[in-house]
Amino acid sequence: MVGLLDGLRAELPPDMFALLEEAADICHAKGWKLYIVGGRVRDLILRRPGLDIDLVIEGNALDLAKELAERHSAGLTAHQRFKTASIQFNNYSLDVVTARSESYTSPGALPEVVPGSLEDDLKRRDFSINAMAVSLNRSDFGTLIDPSGGRLDMEKGLIRILHPQSFSDDATRIFRAIRYEQRFGFNIEPKTLACLIEHKKYLATITPERLRYEFECIFREAFPEKALKRAGDLSVLSQVNDSFTFGCRESNWFKQARDICQPETPSFSLYLALTCSSFNQTEIQKLAARLSLTAGDFQILHEGNLLNSRLGLLDCAGLRASALYRLLSNYDQVAITACMITNSKPAVKKNLGYYLKTLQYIKPELDGHEVKLLGVPHGPRVGEVLQIVHDAKLDGLVKTRQDETSLVRNLISKNS
Ligand code: ATP
Repeated sequence: MVGLLDGLRAELPPDMFALLEEAADICHAKGWKLYIVGGRVRDLILRRPGLDIDLVIEGNALDLAKELAERHSAGLTAHQRFKTASIQFNNYSLDVVTARSESYTSPGALPEVVPGSLEDDLKRRDFSINAMAVSLNRSDFGTLIDPSGGRLDMEKGLIRILHPQSFSDDATRIFRAIRYEQRFGFNIEPKTLACLIEHKKYLATITPERLRYEFECIFREAFPEKALKRAGDLSVLSQVNDSFTFGCRESNWFKQARDICQPETPSFSLYLALTCSSFNQTEIQKLAARLSLTAGDFQILHEGNLLNSRLGLLDCAGLRASALYRLLSNYDQVAITACMITNSKPAVKKNLGYYLKTLQYIKPELDGHEVKLLGVPHGPRVGEVLQIVHDAKLDGLVKTRQDETSLVRNLISKNS
């Protein structure tokens, strides 16, 4: 199994791999044991690259992290209570945790944690494919430790929980199962699926912040629509909010959003606005509370809903650019983008696209100070004149600074 670590050596920057070897040497000297665990092991087997490495130590994670950080003058974030530490080293970070055992006192509560062995630590994990470790110890360097049959499940393409109460202990695993299933093109194993369906009601025990984090993770996937469609089909989304559905129409919108945002990826708020474009204001408020949305994200959903109800005004060709600007300039760009994607009327789409791509960036060259120098008296008239110049520029009636100056002079002479 040294092959797995060879894969890691090939994919990691050399200084990072050297840091892992150094960590293993420190542990050897102290009689501790060190392992790579979780998603990185899974991804090594799948040959998927990545820089996130989680280490579990049978020993003292804080001491190891401190020593490494001191030797390399690296950044260190330590959580004394959870006995975990994160080292920031040359632009990447390495997470080290002390092996632990967890138990859940009630569904959805955070687990009680006590120090334990590697086996205990692997048992507390979500799925067999995430419950494997690779040894970094001299005695068995590169050996895969796989007490739950994760390797075989990977070969069969299965997402399997480690015990029947897994989803009721921590219902965020429901979203995690769906996310991995869809990311890797696997299947949720039949008994796991039965537990998921039986225990999806426990999503009610999850705090808004943890629930929002699950949506953030889904929206960070390359194809979030796959996980959302599956969550919709399994009636998992409706556990979060009665109005939540997700079908082919929404999937299509997500693809369009990616095309529009290239080379960036769509933001959390854009994906969310597309997901709940048919919500009314009450439903938006309920969702915002359930996901503890930021004021900014809530505002985008709210504005998207308002704009949607006014889009009839844009369903015509030949609308004056200045009129279009006035209709849209108070709305957030993300809300406008969501409306452009979800609306099916060609004229509306075209008008929104024109605003987003072109109109919103057109500004007059003259500013208030210059307008006053040309002779407009100090006071509200300055703003009015600037507005007229801006409209004229939007409508293509003035093009150059010279044109703008002539327009202002004309206005002054008309007024005098
Ligand atoms: P990803 O590629 O999605 O980041 P990951 O496996 O690295 O995958 P993390 O969320 O970073 O995912 O979690 C790291 C590891 O911690 C997981 O592989 C899993 O072993 C464990 N883990 C994370 N969340 C849970 C959970 N809710 N319940 C049990 N174990 C979990």
